[in-house]
Amino acid sequence: MTTVVTVGPAKVNLSLEVFPPDASGLHPLRSLVETVSWWDRIAVTAAEADALSIDGPLDPAPDNLVWRALEWHRRASGATVPVAIDLAKRIPVAAGLAGGSADAAATVVALDRLTGAPADRADLGELGADVPFALHGGAAVMEGYGERLTPRPGGGYALVIAVPNTELSTPAVYRRWDELGGPAGPVLDSGALPPAMRDLGPLRNDLYPAAVSLAAELADRAASLADLWSRPVAMSGSGPSLFAYFADLDEAASAAGAVAPSGFRAIRAVVPLPDGARLATDDDR
Ligand code: ATP
Repeated sequence: MTTVVTVGPAKVNLSLEVFPPDASGLHPLRSLVETVSWWDRIAVTAAEADALSIDGPLDPAPDNLVWRALEWHRRASGATVPVAIDLAKRIPVAAGLAGGSADAAATVVALDRLTGAPADRADLGELGADVPFALHGGAAVMEGYGERLTPRPGGGYALVIAVPNTELSTPAVYRRWDELGGPAGPVLDSGALPPAMRDLGPLRNDLYPAAVSLAAELADRAASLADLWSRPVAMSGSGPSLFAYFADLDEAASAAGAVAPSGFRAIRAVVPLPDGARLATDDDR
């Protein structure tokens, strides 16, 4: 029986500007995003009936984005074959790393291949604001509600991503941003960034003040990491993932190893990736 295996990488918001909500209540944004070497794996096999199993800290509930991607693919492609889907969940959940979108994109790529009926991707944004970028990958400026992507050169740095135990819900963070009057986030000191990152314009995350206002300990974690690593620390998406730039993976790996793990769900050194969701190769297995 044929099984198609794909990977969907996490994304980091290197910068995130948020604009006041429009009539529908959604916040337009402008974000510099890049996929990084932390991914989930999806394996899809034709089966008698649809099934989803998850290896990792997430329930295969009916609202899982993998199910939603399957339904979306059926509508967009017309293919109806029942499938068994195995998700190896490695990207921390609800962390600001768009792991759900990575899974949705990886599911679409796998179903395109398995069914031989590629879905028309025009309406992919219906699955979530980060899903078009999760398919595209690399480095891009994302605008509007995630539907306008302008690719840009990426790479030239490594990161340590540290995910605090703090729980933050994305809608709650946006609500608090509104309540605070739409503050701008603190700008990262460009002199402390790797050379490849210095001419990108001010890097900031406008959701940081809102996240910290909901979870004060996040500021303490960021301050202690900045102290430990002697460099600025930023937040991805609506948090709580924190990250800092390093020259290369070796430097990032030793910085990751220096963090006392208590208080964090995960700590990992990563490098930027040129691709989004794609078929797995032997190297990924
Ligand atoms: P967002 O900004 O979209 O909230 P995030 O990067 O903070 O994203 P995700 O890991 O994508 O976080 O998950 C957001 C929510 O979506 C979680 O609360 C989770 O319960 C739900 N979810 C549904 N399917 C998935 C999935 N396959 N992986 C992760 N989360 C999922």
